Amino acid sequence: MTDAPLAPGLTPAGWRAARRSFEGVVGADNAFFEEGDQHAYSDKFAINDASHRPLGALAASTTEQVQAIVRIAGQHRVPLWPISRGKNLGYGGPAPVLSGSVVLDLSRMKRIEVDVENATVLVEPGVGFYDLYDHLRAHDIKLWLSVPANSWGSVAGNALDRGVGYTPYGENTSRICGLEVVLANGEVIRTGMGAMSGSPMWQLYRYGYGPAWDQLFVQSNFGIVTRLGLWLMPEPESVLGMDVELDRADDLGPLIDTLGPLRREGVLQQNPTIGNWLRAATILTTRNQWTDKPGALAEEVIDAIRKKYGMGWWGVGLNVYGREGVTRASYAILEQAIKALKPLSIKPNAWHRGEPVPASIPLGVPSTFPLQSAGWYGGRGGHVGFSPVLPQSGRLALAQFHRTYARYQEFGMDYQGSFAFGERHLINVNALLLNKDSPEMMGRVDRLLRTLIADAREHGYGEYRTHLDYMDAVADTYDFNGHALRRLNEQVKDALDPQGVIAPGKSGIWPAHRRTARRGADGKEPRS
Ligand code: ADP
Repeated sequence: MTDAPLAPGLTPAGWRAARRSFEGVVGADNAFFEEGDQHAYSDKFAINDASHRPLGALAASTTEQVQAIVRIAGQHRVPLWPISRGKNLGYGGPAPVLSGSVVLDLSRMKRIEVDVENATVLVEPGVGFYDLYDHLRAHDIKLWLSVPANSWGSVAGNALDRGVGYTPYGENTSRICGLEVVLANGEVIRTGMGAMSGSPMWQLYRYGYGPAWDQLFVQSNFGIVTRLGLWLMPEPESVLGMDVELDRADDLGPLIDTLGPLRREGVLQQNPTIGNWLRAATILTTRNQWTDKPGALAEEVIDAIRKKYGMGWWGVGLNVYGREGVTRASYAILEQAIKALKPLSIKPNAWHRGEPVPASIPLGVPSTFPLQSAGWYGGRGGHVGFSPVLPQSGRLALAQFHRTYARYQEFGMDYQGSFAFGERHLINVNALLLNKDSPEMMGRVDRLLRTLIADAREHGYGEYRTHLDYMDAVADTYDFNGHALRRLNEQVKDALDPQGVIAPGKSGIWPAHRRTARRGADGKEPRS
């Protein structure tokens, strides 16, 4: 990677002056603008390596440094792209939407403050799931995390991009309680009860007084979060679980219709994730061990892989957490409901307080092994997510699955999909596995993703989160009243960040001076 571009609107002289000022804040050792740095802060899983190229990065270590950086950026109109640890794999990693942006790397900010009695934590952005897990174990604190399957990233970054975990606290973003945020003018604010100086309530009551702002800083570009409060789960007395395998692709519908009512009623408190055979297989094997034929895998190959590992077409882990008496009763209800589906297998498992906690994601232990999926095709691997949200309806989810599966086959790609429960919705995460060394394959991927976004939109489904490449396309699908919500987002953006320096383009929100160029002369109709 050479000649990283300056962002449009930035002159070489302006950039030189800005860089000097930035280095004055973080020190030259924490300013990264060599060619190798640009590569390090780019998206390793990118479909097109030429897009989303950062100019380099600055690694701040305090809130005050972030304030100073934002002020300098505003003065020189340097676009910044804040990241926590930058492991947002499948959605862009550390890379910015707008090429030429300077990545603001907050991974050096690693302060952890746990309130053991109230089961909360206040973390700085650089605190990874491994860091917090180690901290809790080292201090023998009986609080559990809800880790994402690949737990390499940060606690704050995950909650800020609405990533999910697998315990009853799995929707991490809804456990946020109180933020510290640096605004584009350099001012620091604290949300919720944090707005009252010295209040002991910052991590205890989410709303404060008047409008509640926490979610305004989630998946947005209205500010840079420098501290994030999160509720943690008190260690339960027991966890009883079962791994269930179902034989046929169409078993997905009845499984969803069985689990949905139990989830809504609260018998199931965590968010089970139903995954297809390939999600499990990528951990155990690679494609070339089975076939060298291009195009989507043939049914016989799928059957052979499933047979060897005793896999269903779909598998799901179900877990109940809490007091023994309660978990035993809930487990019995679950077991009866699942047996009625005549599954291929049910494997029970159990953990009781006092026993060592096994390395298990549903028990809140960080892991990275699901990253192996990137190696499925061989070559330089990767994956991109396509993740619409759906109702908890077996019929509708099955229809969406069949539509998506048919598109994967049409475009010659192996299907890896999952359906993760929320309280009222399903998140249908489809991972598009890649071999970046196959230009022929990489040439098909973008068209497939845009087709999937359009197919979902036709049925009223939108993505809950998306890769940098598709932020505009997905924002376009949220179109009520001529994109009225986008206009509101833009009004807020213009009011809070008139120079447009914080994460231009994040979630399809562009500052005023970059909107006209993107939308055509009338400034109204988006082209993407
Ligand atoms: P992780 O630390 O889990 O790897 P990332 O740092 O990749 O997560 O963050 C995911 C996305 O969330 C980023 O691309 C960025 O858009 C946003 N983000 C992350 N940290 C912050 C922050 N401190 N303030 C504002 N937005 C952030």
